[in-house]
Amino acid sequence: MKLKILVAAAVAMLAGCGGSAGEDAAAPAATDASTLAPAVENDSAQSWMRAADVQPRIAHLIQAEAALFNLDPAALAGVHVDVVDDTDVGCPGVHSAGGCTIGKAVKVSTFGAHCVEQVPIAHELLHVWIGDPHHKDPRWHELPALMLGEGC
Ligand SMILES: [Zn+2]
Repeated sequence: MKLKILVAAAVAMLAGCGGSAGEDAAAPAATDASTLAPAVENDSAQSWMRAADVQPRIAHLIQAEAALFNLDPAALAGVHVDVVDDTDVGCPGVHSAGGCTIGKAVKVSTFGAHCVEQVPIAHELLHVWIGDPHHKDPRWHELPALMLGEGC
């Protein structure tokens, strides 16, 4: 499949760990997105995080990311994503982190985001998939294209 990568240079990465998300970038996968999503604990008070379509949009985001990088969504089994509104999610060794991944425990903040696709869920899940704590892999540069959610 041909993915259209949008230039998103203006999209600033969040402090600590940057964000991502995408709606129209990836072709639909054959599997049901709802079965691919990790457990998401939504502790955000943001109105757009309380919307009825948040869970499907997160599932779509994860599916788009998996398709973009040809990663296996099954590797996210057992992952727990906690979405909060804090300006710092409290990541060991990282000052003012917008997201943090320790093993299969992911915590992300809505701070600075205007829709679920801009919450650094895809960024942190890429850490789950490939590790790479210092962001050396070239795939990190493609994540901002996923942040251009249709709801933003
Ligand atoms: Zn990171």
